Amino acid sequence: SSSIKPIRATLFPGDGIGPEIAESVKQVFSAAQVPIEWEDHFVGDKVDPRTESFLTWESLESVRRNGVGLKGPMATPIGKGHRSLNLTLRKELGLYANVRPCYSLPGYKTRYDDVNLVTIRENTEGEYSGLEHQVVRGVVESLKIITRQASLRVAEYAFHYAKTHGRQRVSAIHKANIMRKTDGLFLKCCREVAEKYPEITYEEVIIDNCCMMLVKNPALFDVLVMPNLYGDIISDLCAGLIGGLGLTPSCNIGEGGIALAEAVHGSAPDIAGKNLANPTALLLSAVSMLRHLELHDKADQIHNAILKTIAEGKYRTVDLGGNASTTDYTNAVCDNL
Ligand code: NAD
Repeated sequence: SSSIKPIRATLFPGDGIGPEIAESVKQVFSAAQVPIEWEDHFVGDKVDPRTESFLTWESLESVRRNGVGLKGPMATPIGKGHRSLNLTLRKELGLYANVRPCYSLPGYKTRYDDVNLVTIRENTEGEYSGLEHQVVRGVVESLKIITRQASLRVAEYAFHYAKTHGRQRVSAIHKANIMRKTDGLFLKCCREVAEKYPEITYEEVIIDNCCMMLVKNPALFDVLVMPNLYGDIISDLCAGLIGGLGLTPSCNIGEGGIALAEAVHGSAPDIAGKNLANPTALLLSAVSMLRHLELHDKADQIHNAILKTIAEGKYRTVDLGGNASTTDYTNAVCDNL
């Protein structure tokens, strides 16, 4: 209705193909009359001393204020004296969980047609604490940090996600038989949270066995939650199960409920500016942002239009074996809304 107040969301079009696929999202959102008003922010060309990176303070403030945002791919600038863009975003916004839904797209044939799972990766600690040093010549040490606080936080998010998205099961992925203390604590926290969600089935799966099960029969899994390194690897494995980079969305969850959605792929400099990029991954990321905002009708409408366009097969981008341009495909999605 006309009484709906527009919701402000931050948009980082990003680099390379970023602006082209961000334009596609804007076009589809406006055709679907989604009540979102975008605040565009571009990565600067000099270091902002307040963020020690090319990201401006104003852009981070915009995400904090709005609580939701969509991020295109960002090319990593070469040179010293600044923090990486993705690291800056993660630290400044406290992005603690990376959520990647992976489901088979009907009509786009891959080895499996029944994948429907979600990986939830702890994003702040574990093996990625950056604490590495040389003990003596020829011996180096890397510290894996697992805290009760970060483990409870990501487990809580995973169960909450399962409950609010109609999912039945959460699997904690681990190697606690070897890493008794670190992964042991992670599991202990997952069990504690599981007790608060009796309606969700909880199980624990050892990472090596998990890999074997995923490639043999991915339909065995529903929601997977895991420490940082396992999540990094398993989430890419799962992206591969459904057809790869052009299709896979993700969403980063931060402190205070911030949601920053982004495609998994990079800036694709080889096809930038040629109207060839597949905007599906960013579109599906934008859909996950709508779900975070509980705008489920609009999310379903756009999601279904994407599925229909890909299933019809008439307008597919080059990476999916078609010959449609970014704009042809975008127009087809709008027509299918
Ligand atoms: P990439 O994902 O940009 O490209 C890999 C291949 O996939 C290329 O052939 C590309 O054309 C293709 N591809 C990717 N996305 C596509 C799409 N939407 N449609 C059609 N084809 C697509 O990976 P890369 O080449 O390793 O990295 C390029 C730049 O992106 C680097 O500067 C890297 O640091 C950056 N990067 C950023 C992010 C991010 O911001 N989250 C993630 C990965 C890479």
